[in-house]
Amino acid sequence: MNSIPVFDGHNDTLLDLYLPERGEGRTFFERSEAGHIDLPRAREGGFGGGFFACWTPNPEEEWTEESAISFTEDGFEVADAPPLDPSYARKTADELTKILFRVETGAGGQVKVVRTAREIEACLREGVLAAVLHFEGAENLGPDPGALEDLYEVGLRSLGLAWSRPNIYGHGVPFRFPACPDTGPGLTEAGKNLVRECNRLGVLLDLSHLNERGFWDVAGMTEAPLVATHSNAYALCPTTRNLTDRQLDAIRDSDGMVGVNFAVAFLREDGREDEDTPIETVVRHVDYLVERVGIERVGFGSDFDGAKVPQEIGDASGLPKLLGALSGRGYGEGVLKKLAHENWVRVLRATWGG
Ligand SMILES: [Zn+2]
Repeated sequence: MNSIPVFDGHNDTLLDLYLPERGEGRTFFERSEAGHIDLPRAREGGFGGGFFACWTPNPEEEWTEESAISFTEDGFEVADAPPLDPSYARKTADELTKILFRVETGAGGQVKVVRTAREIEACLREGVLAAVLHFEGAENLGPDPGALEDLYEVGLRSLGLAWSRPNIYGHGVPFRFPACPDTGPGLTEAGKNLVRECNRLGVLLDLSHLNERGFWDVAGMTEAPLVATHSNAYALCPTTRNLTDRQLDAIRDSDGMVGVNFAVAFLREDGREDEDTPIETVVRHVDYLVERVGIERVGFGSDFDGAKVPQEIGDASGLPKLLGALSGRGYGEGVLKKLAHENWVRVLRATWGG
């Protein structure tokens, strides 16, 4: 079953490599028990590549998710993260970017930072891990509004307008359960200009983490398919991070795509961070999304190294178990290939051009 490579919409592996205390000192090249993705486990599980996020944490003394969370009767809410200083964000994003290129250099041909859909296809064919450079939060561009063009030259091909905090472009959703993603104002003028710039250059705009008004602002103006790289169905798990049926319909109508997130908090009906979550919970979201947006518009966006995932999957080496579960549910080889990588390649070709 693991003959089908998986190309995946989101991981936070670069942060584990950047912060040794978070990544327990692991490297990308040796098999570790810590975290979710390294080259040996990627090979074992048929992880053929995906979006490698550059995400900048708030300074610890300012805000951490663990210290900002409070539990309510039927869920939780995380106090809003303050905006980042753009110079600090850019400096951190540059360090994370360097790490990705160091991984490419150090892998001796086994990892490639990809810039076109054709390069992804070649990598999947040849067993080279295909990495898309992704910035999760546009504050990472830094204080200079012209930075996107320079970063495009470096290899940036995907940008989340906001992570779950405000920036000068728009507002991300604070983490809340149960709560809907309509949590605040839409895009600013700078945000709308950035959407146009991304369209002009052919940079994918990731809508995961953006609040609902921001989502509708992008939907009303973008020329590209609507894409949420790592979000699930709100109807099955009512968190701010998931997509309402109306949002899903807009994604379908734009011929866009949703990457199914393995984070247990965005999968479970009760929103709890409990890794003892059956793989069938992932399958249920796949079923729902396929029904709502179509088999051509669903893929995976694991959130490996960024979230707690069902222990049955465990890490990248467990992907064949998920494909096996989907196969058992009646998904044949042709549609499994679509879910595993073909849909991502289609949407990236449409977005990037060529
Ligand atoms: Zn994320």
